[in-house]
Amino acid sequence: MIPFLDLKKINKPYENAFQEKLKNFLTNGWYILGNEVSAFETSFANYCRTKYCIGTGNGFDALVLIFKAYIELGKLHKGDEVIVPANTYIASILAIIQADLIPVLVEPKLETYNMDPNLIAEKITSKTKAILVVHLYGQLAEMDRVNEIAIANNLLVVEDSAQAHGASFEEESYNTQDLKPKTQAYSFYPGKNLGALGDAGAVTTNDAELARVIRSLRNYGSETKYYNDYVGMNSRLDELQAAFLNVKLPFLNSENERRRTIAKRYLSEIKNNKIILPTLLLNQAKQLNSVFHLFVIRTQNREKLQAYLFQNGIETMIHYPVPPHLQKAFSSETSKWNSLSFPITEKIHDEVLSLPISPILTMEEVDHIIAILNTF
Ligand SMILES: *Cc1c(COP(=O)(O)O)cnc(C)c1O
Repeated sequence: MIPFLDLKKINKPYENAFQEKLKNFLTNGWYILGNEVSAFETSFANYCRTKYCIGTGNGFDALVLIFKAYIELGKLHKGDEVIVPANTYIASILAIIQADLIPVLVEPKLETYNMDPNLIAEKITSKTKAILVVHLYGQLAEMDRVNEIAIANNLLVVEDSAQAHGASFEEESYNTQDLKPKTQAYSFYPGKNLGALGDAGAVTTNDAELARVIRSLRNYGSETKYYNDYVGMNSRLDELQAAFLNVKLPFLNSENERRRTIAKRYLSEIKNNKIILPTLLLNQAKQLNSVFHLFVIRTQNREKLQAYLFQNGIETMIHYPVPPHLQKAFSSETSKWNSLSFPITEKIHDEVLSLPISPILTMEEVDHIIAILNTF
């Protein structure tokens, strides 16, 4: 059986280094916000080419903290509208709600699964104050277009990069826009491209004020112990998780490269007219701007294809079976989203299937997956 994601095998190469970190951790006896967290924050900011990185408890909190900090800074106000793609993992939308802001859903492009910049303008009202972009499945959204619209309408841009660690750094135009705050939320949930051994997250940004407020908010709104400047929360990056992340970060680029190699094989060798491959955009350097957190195909025979793959020893998953607006959570009187219609989003959720892709998948396994797909 080829499992969809073999986390034990993914973490195996790092086991000795993890043991070493744990030993030092026990020897040092410093458990909260220590040297491992600071070291990771410095390394990850450098990796992302941003000025600041603030470790958080998880990716959801990273998003919430960005919005809460903008509220503290007076750049957002409770009840402001935030435009967000209708087909995202629900965390993006829940984070907006958690910060007392109003999510406004916009359809994606069927081909890329990412937010359609052409549909943003019609969603803008006098209450719209921000766009939350999601780089779904590891592919960068069309940021140049989104940024243009944001500038023209005086909107903040926040990026949910929970599935896209390392995706942006080859895109030159993207990198050199250092004037932009470029504020991104990351998750290090174990299955992400950079995964901890538990919950972990971070915010990266070039905005000094925003970084300062987030740093305070994640620790009870306190910069000096027992003095509280804001109504904060507890969402610190765990010291031990930071130690594990410090072990894995240096290998993120090579792991992403391995994912790309597998994806390129899927793209060129899967040949079956019942299967629609994802449309991938190239950056200015003519490179794929995806780090392939997931490799997501579409088919109108999803149940049959999934069963056929399973019979042939290949485990697949569906990301995601139910779009956020159709979730039971949004069926109540206060959030009557269930009756809304987002045909592209719904079609995507009906047809998508995620193939195994990870740095430890062997080329023989990839051969087998392609061969089985081509005989379906
Ligand atoms: C994983 C994920 C999150 C949330 O991250 P957690 O660490 O699980 O809180 C947010 N947005 C997207 C798109 C994700 O994939």
